[in-house]
Amino acid sequence: MDGAPDRAPDSDPGFEPTLAAARARLASVRPAAYARTRNHLHGAVTRLSPYLTHGLLSLREVVTHLRQNHGLGLEHKLVQELGWRAWWHHAWQHQGDAIFESLHPGPLPEAAYARELPTDVREACTGVPVIDQAVRTLHGQAWLHNHARMWLASYLVHIRHVHWRVGADWMHAHLLDGDLASNHLSWQWVAGTGSHKPYLFNAENVARYAPEDWHSFGSVVDTSYEALDACARGVHRAQGRPGGHAGPAAHHRGRPGSEDPGRAQAGLEPPLHHARPGAPCPAPDPAAFAGREVWLVHPWALDGPPSGLPDGTLVAGLWPQDHHRRWPWSRARWDFVGRRMDAITHAQWCGSAEQWIAALAGAARVRGWNDPHLGALGPALGLRPRPPAFAEPAAACRSFSQFWRAVRFAD
Ligand SMILES: Cc1cc2nc3c(=O)[nH]c(=O)nc-3n(C[C@H](O)[C@H](O)[C@H](O)COP(=O)(O)OP(=O)(O)OC[C@H]3O[C@@H](n4cnc5c(N)ncnc54)[C@H](O)[C@@H]3O)c2cc1C
Repeated sequence: MDGAPDRAPDSDPGFEPTLAAARARLASVRPAAYARTRNHLHGAVTRLSPYLTHGLLSLREVVTHLRQNHGLGLEHKLVQELGWRAWWHHAWQHQGDAIFESLHPGPLPEAAYARELPTDVREACTGVPVIDQAVRTLHGQAWLHNHARMWLASYLVHIRHVHWRVGADWMHAHLLDGDLASNHLSWQWVAGTGSHKPYLFNAENVARYAPEDWHSFGSVVDTSYEALDACARGVHRAQGRPGGHAGPAAHHRGRPGSEDPGRAQAGLEPPLHHARPGAPCPAPDPAAFAGREVWLVHPWALDGPPSGLPDGTLVAGLWPQDHHRRWPWSRARWDFVGRRMDAITHAQWCGSAEQWIAALAGAARVRGWNDPHLGALGPALGLRPRPPAFAEPAAACRSFSQFWRAVRFAD
């Protein structure tokens, strides 16, 4: 049975891009409370995700901490949730870019889903409290509780009939922890294109796990699971009841693309950027690397250089332009990553894979951690994967349960 809410609203310190902040969060994890309350919006979840995505903490470091300090085994709920992250990456490794398309048909044909995000969702004025609160939180904190992510995704895909890929790209861009495998495959899980059935929720479910200002009785989600299922399958569309799809409320209207800092607080969508705002970055220069020992830092490896590097090693910040052209970020994410990059590198460059490979060709040695978000660039530069948390099956697994049965702790 689920326990009671645990965390006082708004008591969280936010996300500072420092190792001290990451380690303080890890030290404050309470596994028993987590297992009891994690489904509640104010439950004892860890909020480790921005630090894991951006490599200030590795999955192995977190799992080792939980084993050594709390004696947790593979059967503990928190270790299993960390296992979901490893599972999505396992799926990405085996399926590659196929994860960005529907893995199998969902409840409706692809053409039945809209390819644009509705403005009232972007602007948090649908009139459905759970959705408007979730969007406001996403825009204000650049982070969302897992349950809120599921509600938002389910509403968009199964009630508004928006294609999961549209929602996934949008959410990925606004999250500090945006991780292409965890995000896009979770959206597919909700959509029913990567799972056996669509994930549906109703107002009662929200009332059980969320504070009162999220409750959505009397809105479009205040209905039976049978009706929601029929809507997901297109048998009938959701009824526009009071508190349903109201038009944009005047006080939420804003100028799209405006950089006014009050926008995020008001729930208005922060603009997205393909490069770090206000911080022009030069293309990688072969002369800077010629004959040098280089330690590469990039947005998914922000733990900083290890001790014991040879004197004179250049700690170089790598911004992968190909990735950023394809996947924009909000300013909050650029700031989080950029501030950490500033703190740990000697200099930074932004370039295409071709430019990076050419520029680093003359270095004495190039080292750093690989990450799948770098695509082919990481292996081309000879970057090694981090030591894993789990010893995984080499062959592709078909489901999380098959994967988890085969997993052991890595030595
Ligand atoms: C639609 C949708 C989109 C999502 N997008 C992302 C994303 O872009 N990046 C991301 O890291 N997670 C994503 N998740 C998974 C999950 O919601 C977040 O990892 C979690 O809410 C982060 O908060 P936390 O650190 O407090 O998690 P906790 O519950 O405290 O869990 C600890 C850690 O375990 C991992 N974890 C927990 N649950 C999951 C899960 N279901 N899938 C994968 N890893 C998990 C995360 O690394 C997390 O930091 C998504 C889930 C959904 C339903």
